[in-house]
Amino acid sequence: MQYVSTREKSTIVSSAEAIVKGLSEDGGLFVPSEFPAISSKELEQMTDMEYSERAAFVLSKFLSDFTLEELNDYTKKAYSRFYGDDPCPLVAIDDKTYILELWHGPTCAFKDMALTLLPHLMVASRKKVGEKNKTLILVATSGDTGKAALEGFKDVEGCEIIVFYPSEGVSDMQKLQMQTQTGNNVYVCAIKGNFDDAQSAVKVIFNDENVKAQLLEQGYKLSSANSINWGRLVPQIAYYVSSYVDLLASNEIKMGEKINFCVPSGNFGNILAGYYAMRMGVPIGKLICASNKNRVLTDFFASGKYDTNREFYKTMSPSMDILISSNLERLLFEISGRDDKYVASLMNDLKTKGCYQIDFDKLKTNASNFEGGFSDEEMTMDTIEDFYDENDYLLDTHTAVAVGVSQAIKEENRDNTKTVIVSTASPYKFPQDVYNALTGEFVDDSIKAADMLEEYTGMEIPEPLQGLQSRIVRFKDVIEKDKIKEAVLSCLKK
Ligand SMILES: *Cc1c(COP(=O)(O)O)cnc(C)c1O
Repeated sequence: MQYVSTREKSTIVSSAEAIVKGLSEDGGLFVPSEFPAISSKELEQMTDMEYSERAAFVLSKFLSDFTLEELNDYTKKAYSRFYGDDPCPLVAIDDKTYILELWHGPTCAFKDMALTLLPHLMVASRKKVGEKNKTLILVATSGDTGKAALEGFKDVEGCEIIVFYPSEGVSDMQKLQMQTQTGNNVYVCAIKGNFDDAQSAVKVIFNDENVKAQLLEQGYKLSSANSINWGRLVPQIAYYVSSYVDLLASNEIKMGEKINFCVPSGNFGNILAGYYAMRMGVPIGKLICASNKNRVLTDFFASGKYDTNREFYKTMSPSMDILISSNLERLLFEISGRDDKYVASLMNDLKTKGCYQIDFDKLKTNASNFEGGFSDEEMTMDTIEDFYDENDYLLDTHTAVAVGVSQAIKEENRDNTKTVIVSTASPYKFPQDVYNALTGEFVDDSIKAADMLEEYTGMEIPEPLQGLQSRIVRFKDVIEKDKIKEAVLSCLKK
């Protein structure tokens, strides 16, 4: 399987190169040259496999530079770092609603599903392409990617990692997790700005020949651990396939029956992996894209206009406070019939005007599987409270957005298909808002709020979040958003 750039189809790389590079030099994203198929027979066979084997099997269809044996080795190592018997349990709420818990990893967010695996893929890919320079991983984070990438890449041979996060745009718990990161090859820095500023600045560095030359002089080549990197996206396809297989195995569905997924979305990486699973042949009806008050994606699916010229809101689901959803570019590439010139022109509109317009009816490939919806802050609070009262199940502030959107669609009787809600974080990453939703009381201190939430619900604080307050804060730098370049160069000199 080869990979092409969304902005220049004649750029062709191997899977290992796509992972080492992260981003194509023309600014485009790498996508597989075709969709490998998964048959009903294979889905059936997967019912007997454990998660790590299922993931290796799905990965093997995309990553032809790796043997199944290698991939099984990586997935075993990655998913053994998760707590509990199953890295991503599917919890039945009623006979039509299921919650796919993706947050049993080392940092309690769904990013662990990919970021425990990416370092193994990166180290092996570096060997396969014969990379002699060090790989410098630059990350822009809205909160969860940063910590998960740091945990994944700390002390990994041949790699160094720098994470930028918006200083006031992440939860206290997320900030504390990052500031106390251990490891000898890590650096964390806050910027004065929002996630889009951080992501844009990082993308500028990727396309700055001058900086890249300076880095190379010091023996570094850049790569990314954001979902713009194919190695970040491909492990996410596996859990869409696996949850379908779980439903088959427990006789909740018959082979071929379509199911919906509802995904709390920001950078559009998670839900895009669901689209790839669908294109492989997993019977998926709708992919419901749930947004918070930053409803740029909801408006896009309703009107075809993607418009970032709007107010940016800081919400209690900070990992979804994003106006520029990078991975939408990959979807545009597919639904336009892989028209690279068209994608490049839309991305140019986005860069110069902050918006672009498409006509869904005129596209080569149908995008009607997608539906958008959003939940504002009040609705999200209500959803957390009601869902806890009715189902004795505690939602985090991101998953609650998806539950709210999915329930609204059901109530309007528009769709009664069995739906998997993709749950992206432990409620204990956002204890203040979750506790507030349940009790009406806002506790200022996040550690205290977590303890009170534990006492109130009897649901235990996950082990990776225990004892955070006693860890040493190592990283306190805060810089202006236009100083990211200097920060990267000076941190490497140290
Ligand atoms: C990253 C994240 C999201 C958004 O996922 P995308 O792939 O960026 O759409 C949603 N919820 C949580 C908790 C996250 O960490």
